[in-house]
Amino acid sequence: MQINLAQLQQEIDELALISENPPPVVTRVLFSGADLRARRFVKKLCRDTGLNLREDAVGNIFARWEGSDKNLPAVATGSHIDAIPNAGKYDGVVGVLGGIEAIRALKKAGFHPKRSLELLIFTAEEPTRFGLGCVGSRLLGGVLSPQKAATLRSPDGKNFTQWLKQAGCRGKLDSVRLPKNFYSAFIELHIEQGPILERQKISIGIVEKIAAPSTLRLQLTGVGGHAGATLMRGRRDALLAGAEIALAVENAALTTGSPDTVGTTGVFKIEPGAVNSIPCHAHLEIDVRDTNVSTRDAALAKIEKISRRICKQRKIKLDFERLNTDPPAICDAALVRTVSQVCREFKISARKLISRAYHDSLFMARVCPVTMIFIPCRGGISHRPDEYSSPAQIEKGVRVLAKTLAIASLR
Ligand SMILES: [Zn+2]
Repeated sequence: MQINLAQLQQEIDELALISENPPPVVTRVLFSGADLRARRFVKKLCRDTGLNLREDAVGNIFARWEGSDKNLPAVATGSHIDAIPNAGKYDGVVGVLGGIEAIRALKKAGFHPKRSLELLIFTAEEPTRFGLGCVGSRLLGGVLSPQKAATLRSPDGKNFTQWLKQAGCRGKLDSVRLPKNFYSAFIELHIEQGPILERQKISIGIVEKIAAPSTLRLQLTGVGGHAGATLMRGRRDALLAGAEIALAVENAALTTGSPDTVGTTGVFKIEPGAVNSIPCHAHLEIDVRDTNVSTRDAALAKIEKISRRICKQRKIKLDFERLNTDPPAICDAALVRTVSQVCREFKISARKLISRAYHDSLFMARVCPVTMIFIPCRGGISHRPDEYSSPAQIEKGVRVLAKTLAIASLR
């Protein structure tokens, strides 16, 4: 089996030019002009590869190579091509274009799949447009209800269904969810977006667990006033309550007893935001993750309890919302073993890893057994224009993916 690296690299470079910003910046926010052009580009590659295309009501794209036994659940791979503002060209793309190359390589090698092989390109892995990541795979996995999805809005107020219509998506949202075991396996190739593989000079990471993400949104309302004329006693300063809450988030994450718990207050906006004015309003968004759902949920409960106490003491009105609390995914032991065996056979160094970022695989785990194949990226850097994986690293990832898909398709 031969991976055509020159062609793959050229396609990665070409797709990177389909961007809302000039190179080296890649910006492809869901359903922007660039995203729609990128979808057409990828669909053409799928057609050129002889794959049968279909799209669901949210624009998830499915490209299928029919196997000899069409009645068996297919084996799936894939990732996303949307990109946050100011991103690079490998996140998601390696799994999509690498997936196409894996299929081309298998075809050229004369392989005949028993189970069909299907490449997926997920809608809205990145949360940029709707404030929620993995919208497409959440709907496929039944983690997001069609009713809830319909209430999503972009910051300009346009709702989800308007966006879908404008992007040319057809059909009903409740037709998107896949039945359990629709696929026999889902294997996603992705850059690590972390430093471990590069640091340890290991070529492949085999993902055993995907951490459980959760997001909180807090609106704090106090009383504003003139910074000079209002005396300190009796102030109801929303920022100070928010600051105490941010410290409580750090403390809650540090004291679960597990090093895998992480808590971040990534958004902290105050109003009116003038030097001579007491902040009357604070908006906080908090991200808490863990590989263990019970320690994660204990941290969330602690944060909520302390937030309520702080706001009560400071006489601040608190609106506390849990935007999402997703369960972690445990990857399929048999698939993890298969990827390990493939790496050994190819004499490619590999180790098992936890994915601390979440991916579409987290939600595909609701449909079927999953695992992920990670390749190193320079400095562990991602979501930046200087994101980079070498052609040699990509080649190894695609080769391992292709062989794993082949084995899974004959199972
Ligand atoms: Zn990604």
